[in-house]
Amino acid sequence: MTDAETFECPSPDCSRTFGGQGEFTEHINTEHAGEYQRDDWPDTPAGRQTRRDREESDEE
Ligand SMILES: [Zn+2]
Repeated sequence: MTDAETFECPSPDCSRTFGGQGEFTEHINTEHAGEYQRDDWPDTPAGRQTRRDREESDEE
């Protein structure tokens, strides 16, 4: 039994899960780049976390 953090794709059309945020972010950027631009898209903790990371790098 492990307690590893996993990241589940927030897209309703996709139910993939990832063992690391790097893989998760890469998947989002590759497979859901268009959806991901929407402000209201990923309404999950993992989605918000990824979106926040992206906003941090986009702004400024
Ligand atoms: Zn996906």
